[in-house]
Amino acid sequence: MKSLSLILLLLTNIACSETKSVYLCDSEGGKKYHFEKTCRGLSNCQHKIIETTLDKAKSQGKTRCGWEK
Ligand SMILES: [Zn+2]
Repeated sequence: MKSLSLILLLLTNIACSETKSVYLCDSEGGKKYHFEKTCRGLSNCQHKIIETTLDKAKSQGKTRCGWEK
């Protein structure tokens, strides 16, 4: 059962890394990610709000929302 413990270890590592959920406004000009789904930066989003991970948002060139300091 060595492989099982390895998987568990990987899952634990993933949970501790930047796989935190963030929210994006799925508009063409959207360049920000948000930690809060209720953020005022998202409230004027006219498009779909999509949930992704911090890693993915960063790899797509998104930067952190200016309202969330
Ligand atoms: Zn925000």
